[in-house]
Order: sequence, then structure tokens, then C-alpha cells
Amino acid sequence: MAGKRSSVVIAGGGIGGIATALALAKYDIESQVYERRAGFPEEGAGIQIGPNGTRILSDLGVADVLRAHAAVPDALSARDGSTGQELTRLPLGTWIAERHGSPYWTAHRKDLHNALRMRAEADPRITLKCGCEIVSFVNEADGIRAIDAAGDVIEGQALVCADGLWSDLRKKMGASGVPQPVGKTAFRSVTPASDLPPELTPNAVHIWLAPGAHVVHYPVNAGRDIALVVITDDTSREAGWERPALAQTVQDSVRSFSMPLQDLVAKAQDWRRWSLYAMPPLQHWSVGRATLLGDAAHPVLPFLAQGAVLALEDAKMLACCLAGERHDVATALKNYEHARWRRAKRVAETSRRNGRIYHMSGALALARNATMRLTRPARMMVGFDWLYGWRL
Ligand SMILES: Cc1cc2nc3c(=O)[nH]c(=O)nc-3n(C[C@H](O)[C@H](O)[C@H](O)COP(=O)(O)OP(=O)(O)OC[C@H]3O[C@@H](n4cnc5c(N)ncnc54)[C@H](O)[C@@H]3O)c2cc1C
Repeated sequence: MAGKRSSVVIAGGGIGGIATALALAKYDIESQVYERRAGFPEEGAGIQIGPNGTRILSDLGVADVLRAHAAVPDALSARDGSTGQELTRLPLGTWIAERHGSPYWTAHRKDLHNALRMRAEADPRITLKCGCEIVSFVNEADGIRAIDAAGDVIEGQALVCADGLWSDLRKKMGASGVPQPVGKTAFRSVTPASDLPPELTPNAVHIWLAPGAHVVHYPVNAGRDIALVVITDDTSREAGWERPALAQTVQDSVRSFSMPLQDLVAKAQDWRRWSLYAMPPLQHWSVGRATLLGDAAHPVLPFLAQGAVLALEDAKMLACCLAGERHDVATALKNYEHARWRRAKRVAETSRRNGRIYHMSGALALARNATMRLTRPARMMVGFDWLYGWRL
């Protein structure tokens, strides 16, 4: 028997799990984080963190650590993939920081994860344990028992299942969702910023749109590197984030794009592939003292760059609800779920819609391009106030 009955057990030491531990510590609530992998290898590529995410990172004391590794892009430049012509240039930088009171950052996932972990390791209210997979749980009147793969029992007042897209604990909870392939594959790489063709502004998020494919790239590692993501319509299905991909396969998939982009893709070497999955939205994801968080509760496609940020928002909301109902955990978890499901659904739907818009062809693509050219950039950004302006 391990742990303290008064603390919260968190299954999953990803971005959502560790952020939850930090958010709980702000209310002086102890937690134990169990990560199934033996350690935290430096995996992943780029992550964009809008003002709704950086605001939470500041609150958790993580922004101070991450700042040195993040980039603060000035703009989001959208281009027609085949001609390379800029369709719009949306303001980020000081514009978005002033509008929402917090900046827009881009970073390597490992730097975000490391920053969260460093803060958690320094907090005596948080215990982090790797190599421990939570496989099931039993709700009891006065607590919850989480059971790990070795059969050991971990006791707590609540169990937060932050075990990612392929959550097994979601199934244990009786939730109906199963991720389904959406027919798109993302190829990711990180390459030195010196590889960027001179005609492309270094300090910007770039998005290139073409029929059946789009490419996003932006600075990471304080601007020293560029994270590149090539997303193509593709029916292959492979679970996991880190499967190696042939550079030639990626280069072939961008043949219809203009030369600066092809040149950039040709320079990047170490490509990883990741089949994209989505899940019908859940409205309920708590049972008694157990709940889901982050991708386990509401996986989102990456076309709005909000997967990690939604997990941060969940963490903040969950901690607030648990602190507000310390003697009625089941009610606290229901309050959390109620406060989050509509927003998660809206983000998931908007991401999916963006994916369709980005890959349009023919007359639809022409209409999209015309709309982008004719709409004032600041006006377009105001349409995202609901997203970036989120506050608890
Ligand atoms: C290795 C990896 C690389 C990624 N790379 C990118 C990227 O480059 N760009 C991007 O936008 N997103 C990436 N993501 C996804 C992104 O981190 C998530 O979409 C987002 O941060 C939501 O975080 P989460 O905490 O809900 O899930 P995740 O970040 O997926 O974390 C879930 C964690 O739970 C652990 N786990 C699973 N089951 C159990 C269990 N039963 N018991 C204990 N632990 C368990 C997993 O090992 C993992 O560490 C990556 C995720 C992973 C795991």
C-alpha cells in the first residue's frame, strides 16, 4: 500500500498530469504523479502555446523556466502552398500579448515538459514516480484505490487519469470513446534555423496551404531551431508519436509546394510520423472519485494548436474545483467536467474544421484564399478572442 489518502493520484506524467500536480499545489493539495514510462526521453517536436496557455504557465511558475527556451513569434503568415504568395499575416508578438495580457509562445515539447517537471520536482507537495503504470482503480466511500501493473495499491482522495490519447483508464471508466483515424498523417522534424530560406521571416509561424496537404513551421529553442510539421491526407494508421519516417517520403509529399518550402523540407533530416486520430466528444468523463484530463478526456486534432493548452486549462479548472469542494470529491469532479466539456468540444470542432479548410482544392480553395486576403488581419484575430482570452 503506497501513498497518502489525503493526496490526489495522477496517472500520466505528460503535460496534463504534471500541470495538474502544480495546479493542485497552488491550493496546498498534495499529489502523486505516476508515469508509465521508465523516464522522460526528449521526445516530440514543436508545441504552440497561445495566451490562454502562457497565462497558466505564469501562474504555475513555469513560464520563468520556459522563457529562455521559447520563441515569441511576431506574426502568423499564411501562404498559398503552390505559389508561395502570402494570403494574410496575422499579428502575434506584442499585439496578442497586449490584447490578452499574456504572450504567444512556440517551444519544443521537451522544453515545456522539462519546465513543468523542474517545477514539480522542486515542490515538496508533489511526488513524481516513473516506471509505474496505473491499470485500474476502485472507488470507495472515503477514498480511491489505484492499482499499478505490479498489483500494488496506491491510495488517494481522487484519481486523475491524464494518460493521453490512448487512455486505457478511459475504458476502465466505462466511457464510450474510441479514437478513430481521420485519414491524415503528420510528419515532424526539427532543423537548425539557418536552414530557413532567406525570403522567409524567421520569427513567425508559417502555414502553407495546398490541396490535400499543409505545412506549418515556427521557431523553437529560443529561435535557434525550426519545428516543421507536414500534414498530408493519408490513410495509414499507426499509433504512437515517434515512428521514424523516410525523408524521401516527406519530400515527395510536398512536390506541389513552391520552392522555398521544398528546400526547407529537403534540409530537415530526422522525420517522425504520427497518424492523426479523433474521438467523438464525451460529455461525461468522471466516475465517483476518478476523472479524465487532457487528451484522455478530449483529444483534439492539431489544426488549432491547442492540445497541450487544453490540458493546462483542464489542470487549472480541476484544481480549482477540488479546492472548492474538499469534502465532496465526486461533486468537485462533476463540476470540473461540467465546466470543461463545452469548451473542449468547441476547440475539437474548430480544429477539425480548420483541417478541412487547410486542405481545400479548386473553387473552395480560391474562395478561402480570397477571404484571407480581404479580411483585415486584426479582425480575423478578434474572431479568436473566445480561444485565447480564456480565464478561470
Ligand atoms: C512522446 C510524446 C510526444 C508528443 N509530441 C508532440 C508534438 O511534437 N507536438 C504536439 O503538438 N503534441 C505532441 N504530443 C501530444 C501532446 O503532448 C498532448 O496532445 C498534449 O500535451 C496533452 O497532454 P496530455 O498530458 O493529455 O497527454 P500526453 O502528453 O500524451 O501524456 C500522457 C502521459 O501518460 C503516460 N501514460 C499513459 N498511460 C499511463 C498509465 N496507465 N499509467 C501511467 N502513465 C501513463 C504516457 O506515457 C504519457 O507520458 C506528444 C505526446 C507524447 C506522449
